[in-house]
Amino acid sequence: MLKLTYSRRLQRMRILISSNRFDASAPVSAINLGSHFLRGTQQIPVSKLQLGRRVRGLTAFNHIGSRTSESCKVRGLHQLLGIDARYRERHQLEQQAEAAVLSLCAMDGLGREFWLAPAASFAWRALKSAALSDQAMLVEISGFRSVEAQAALILRKLRRSQTIEQILRVSAAPGFSEHHTGRAIDFADVSELNDKKFLTEAFEMTKSYQWLVQNARRFGFTQSYARDNRHGIAYEPWHWLYRPGF
Ligand SMILES: [Zn+2]
Repeated sequence: MLKLTYSRRLQRMRILISSNRFDASAPVSAINLGSHFLRGTQQIPVSKLQLGRRVRGLTAFNHIGSRTSESCKVRGLHQLLGIDARYRERHQLEQQAEAAVLSLCAMDGLGREFWLAPAASFAWRALKSAALSDQAMLVEISGFRSVEAQAALILRKLRRSQTIEQILRVSAAPGFSEHHTGRAIDFADVSELNDKKFLTEAFEMTKSYQWLVQNARRFGFTQSYARDNRHGIAYEPWHWLYRPGF
């Protein structure tokens, strides 16, 4: 019996299993979930696992992380969410490593903490101040997002009865979102925030978008998902990635 919970503050998913007995026939493989670990097959050496404390009668495994476990986490989450094992090839996307160091930049347009990798944070500050001096009223909606946060986002959509195919047209699978790198930003125009309607194609009609098209490259930011892109991801005029020299 699996139970998925998600900590919004820690951006970490927690998987709990209803027994502390290891079940080798479980359909999931080894899943590193940041602060917790679920082991379903023998893929991760036991030396990397530490039996965690009991939480409300369930048992969690704390982990001592490694880079290989990052891929295990992604594979495990894909299996849990029903994402095709050929996702990478089908969408021609590369796995994105989570940023190791992050800076808290500000609160975003929705009052949440807005984190970026340090280099992206410097570039964003310069971009933002230039935009403001040109009266382009940019607002940030999303910066760094952990692999688990991406999984939680998809899980919420599944619970609202969207199919995984519908969801993956607008959201990258966990492990493949540029937001994991701490270098991607979703922008809105302040007017959209007032109307509570943002992250839609209508962003391209705003002064903020026009300003980004003309100026963002100077600061190292480029738009990732054009119309009819080869990744099968919807057109996202609001999504910009810091990749200097690109
Ligand atoms: Zn985005």
